[in-house]
Amino acid sequence: MTSDRTRERLAGRLGDAGIRSVHVLNVIRHIPRHLFVDEALATRAYEDTALPIGHGQTISQPFVVARMTEIVIRHGMPQRVLEIGTGSGYQAAVLSALVGQVYTVERIRALHERSRELFRRLGLTNIRSRLADGHEGWSTAGPYDAILLTAATPTIPTALFEQLKEGGELLAPVGGEVQELRIYRRQDGALVEEGIEPVTFVPMRPGVQ
Ligand code: SAH
Repeated sequence: MTSDRTRERLAGRLGDAGIRSVHVLNVIRHIPRHLFVDEALATRAYEDTALPIGHGQTISQPFVVARMTEIVIRHGMPQRVLEIGTGSGYQAAVLSALVGQVYTVERIRALHERSRELFRRLGLTNIRSRLADGHEGWSTAGPYDAILLTAATPTIPTALFEQLKEGGELLAPVGGEVQELRIYRRQDGALVEEGIEPVTFVPMRPGVQ
């Protein structure tokens, strides 16, 4: 089966699983997820599962990527979005089709370099990526309309809240081994919190490697 057809089937499955945004489903139809995983796993790239990408890390499950993206664009298309945890680069690539500018930070050099090369190859010129510890965010490019953490943390680093625009939203898996996907909306200087659903992400770790 061609990857067009398997992608179409994946988009159909995500629709059945509750993804309502036609914008998100269209992007899932077009982004070649098989390029974001090792060649040996390419045949499984359009299953709705997380897959290993080396260095003990994983590419997120397509449903989770779709869900987070759907949340980020639910009040309109944000201009500036920051992602912590580039990993394979797939979430950043999905976002880049829908928002103005994507900034993404990764702490593992090999993953940072591989994803950067893929963004270049796919012509995704509205993604800027950086090798750094995401606990600090990316202050010189902020503030952001939306910030996504794709690694789990029991507490959100304060630097990230500081880089969020008034009216902006931060989306993160909060907890230890089991996490809850949460939205924090910055409103009148305060943070309004909303729990979405249970999720499982790899943990956020300190430092650059
Ligand atoms: N968004 C990714 C999946 C992320 S897996 C994708 O679409 O494929 C989580 C990633 O977060 C891993 O690559 C991990 O190395 C990275 N990470 C963990 N702690 C981090 C930190 N402090 N700063 C930046 N990246 C971090």
